[in-house]
Amino acid sequence: MKLLEDRILRDGKVLSGNVLKVDSFLNHQIDVELVDAMGEEFFRLFSGERIDKIITIESSGISVAYSTARCFKVPLVFAKKSRSVNSSDDFYSAPVVSFTRKTSYDLTLSREYISKGERILLIDDFLATGSALIALRDICLTAGADIVGAGIAIEKSYQSGGKTLRDSGLRIESLAMISAMSENGEIKFC
Ligand code: 5GP
Repeated sequence: MKLLEDRILRDGKVLSGNVLKVDSFLNHQIDVELVDAMGEEFFRLFSGERIDKIITIESSGISVAYSTARCFKVPLVFAKKSRSVNSSDDFYSAPVVSFTRKTSYDLTLSREYISKGERILLIDDFLATGSALIALRDICLTAGADIVGAGIAIEKSYQSGGKTLRDSGLRIESLAMISAMSENGEIKFC
C-alpha cells in the first residue's frame, strides 16, 4: 500500500534491535485518515470472505482493527496483555515473547467473546518473529473458531514470522512489507 510505504519512509525511524518506530502515525499518535485507508484496504483484500469478528492485540493493533471492523460491520475484540482485577477467570491464554520489550507475557481473551465456528480475521500492526500472531491463532484454534486470515500493517519480511505462518497455511496480507532496514535510516520494501 503506497500510502503506508510513503509514510514509513517519511516518518518511520529505525531503532537498534530491528525495531521500526512509527509512533508519529500509528503507535502513539494516530493518523486516523491513514488508519481508515488501511482498514478499507483490508476490507478490499478480504471482501470475498465471510467475516464474523475481528481480533487483535492491545494496544497498537486496535486502531487498524477498529477501522477494519467498521468496514466489515462486525465486532472487534482485542486480546489483553495483562489481566486486571475485573477480568473474568474464564479466558483463553497463550504465551508471547514480546519482540520490542524482550519479555514474555500471556495473551488472554475472554471465552465470552469468541465462539466455536466463528469466522475470524486477525489484525495486528507488525509481524516480526510471529510470536504474537501465533498466540492469537492458537487462542482461536483452541476456541474452535475458523481463521480466515491475518491482516498486518507492517511486515518485516526478513524476519521469520511471515514464512512460518504462511507455511502453516495461514493467509497473511501485509500492507507494507519491509525487505531490509538499517539504522542509518534506509528502508527497503519488497
Ligand atoms: P512478533 O511477535 O511477530 O515478533 O512481533 C509482533 C509484535 O511486536 C507486534 O504486535 C508489535 O507490537 C511488536 N513489533 C514487532 N516488531 C516491531 C517493530 O519493528 N516496531 C514496532 N513499533 N513494534 C514491533
